[in-house]
Amino acid sequence: MVIEFFEREKPTPPADYFRVDHESLKAWVKDVFISLGCREKDSSVIADVLVSADLMGISSHGVQRVKRYVDGIKAGSVKPKPQIKVVRDSGAIAVVDGDSGLGHPTTSFAAELAMKKAKSYGIGFVAVRNSQHFGIAGYYSLKIAGKGFMGLTLTNSTPLVAYTHTVERYLGTNPIALSVPKREPPPILFDAATSVVPLGKIEIYSKVGKEIPKGWVIAENGELLEGDATVILKKIRGKEAAILPLGGVGELFGGHKGSGLAMLVDIFAGILSGSGWGAHVRYTVSDKPGNVGHAVMAVNIDSFMNRESFLDRIDKYIQEIKSLKKHPKAERIWIPGEKAWLTMQTRLTIGIPIHKNVYNELKDISKDLQIPFTLKVLKEKAY
Ligand code: NDP
Repeated sequence: MVIEFFEREKPTPPADYFRVDHESLKAWVKDVFISLGCREKDSSVIADVLVSADLMGISSHGVQRVKRYVDGIKAGSVKPKPQIKVVRDSGAIAVVDGDSGLGHPTTSFAAELAMKKAKSYGIGFVAVRNSQHFGIAGYYSLKIAGKGFMGLTLTNSTPLVAYTHTVERYLGTNPIALSVPKREPPPILFDAATSVVPLGKIEIYSKVGKEIPKGWVIAENGELLEGDATVILKKIRGKEAAILPLGGVGELFGGHKGSGLAMLVDIFAGILSGSGWGAHVRYTVSDKPGNVGHAVMAVNIDSFMNRESFLDRIDKYIQEIKSLKKHPKAERIWIPGEKAWLTMQTRLTIGIPIHKNVYNELKDISKDLQIPFTLKVLKEKAY
């Protein structure tokens, strides 16, 4: 297979980045969590989710999040060895208690359970309570699509977003990730925060020294903030500012639709699961155990129609979209999941670009935990 080299976030200037081999990065992240008392199996899953995000070009939710999780374990709000339990199980549904462990192993478990149920009942819906942050929602939906099901993954998060016509942090950035298998890779994967941007994007802008454009963040007095990401991040953390819902401020560009989606994700993932919601969802690093809620659904296509007919219909649908009249300034028409997949193929070959500030943060973590810093830096390759 010929690889089309493409990166969703191209490292510029390249001199500010280290190209790191993904296997060495994954092995190091795994070592970090093992050193903190996590099980080897769970540490592998956490490492896989984080490094997959970086491979897919979602640096907001990649290894730059290691520090937050380490701090959570140190604070005692993240349990390194949670006892994951199925607390309700009936037919196509189940409720899982994550026992305040990181959400990655718990949600992987929930996704497996949802698929098992979908095999028997056509659909499987698993709600997760008392969990912690789980990284990119798309990871779990992609795993579900990889096994031939349609997937849905939802999570709520700590309050960061201002509900339409309000200015304070109440909603989480509550992402929605839907996936659909296709005949040829990649599967369709639509994975997005229900806010204009996730917090991780503002964190990474702060770490690499980028400016925030007007329209992402609103201050308490209703002013739209722009400029220095570190200053704005401080205001968000200090509860003086909030991220805007998808669609932005007010109703003119659909801010009420972002708010509505975030609210419904909160109900499905937080209220229905028996977990926290809205302003009650605790941050990863806290003096209390985690109460993040997730929901995972798997849909068995075979229960609805002949699989080959479904795959034919999806192929035709995509062909139709790809053949639409292109905007004169657009380079290409994208299907959700394509940029992430091409970025992944590229970075599996040439490595993951890690900004020097993030690289140094990882190095400091290694020092602090007294584990060897084993990242393998590759030579930058032109393509
Ligand atoms: P993006 O805005 O980067 O992407 C949203 C979706 O749009 C992706 O599926 C993307 O596909 C697709 N897309 C991008 N460009 C196009 C295009 N031109 N045409 C069609 N589709 C397109 O996502 P966000 O910044 O909102 O979210 C980033 C990540 O943050 C997600 O993985 C999300 O799950 C995670 N997150 C996690 C939270 C948590 O609490 N755990 C909270 C909030 C967010 P592609 O990927 O192929 O570009």
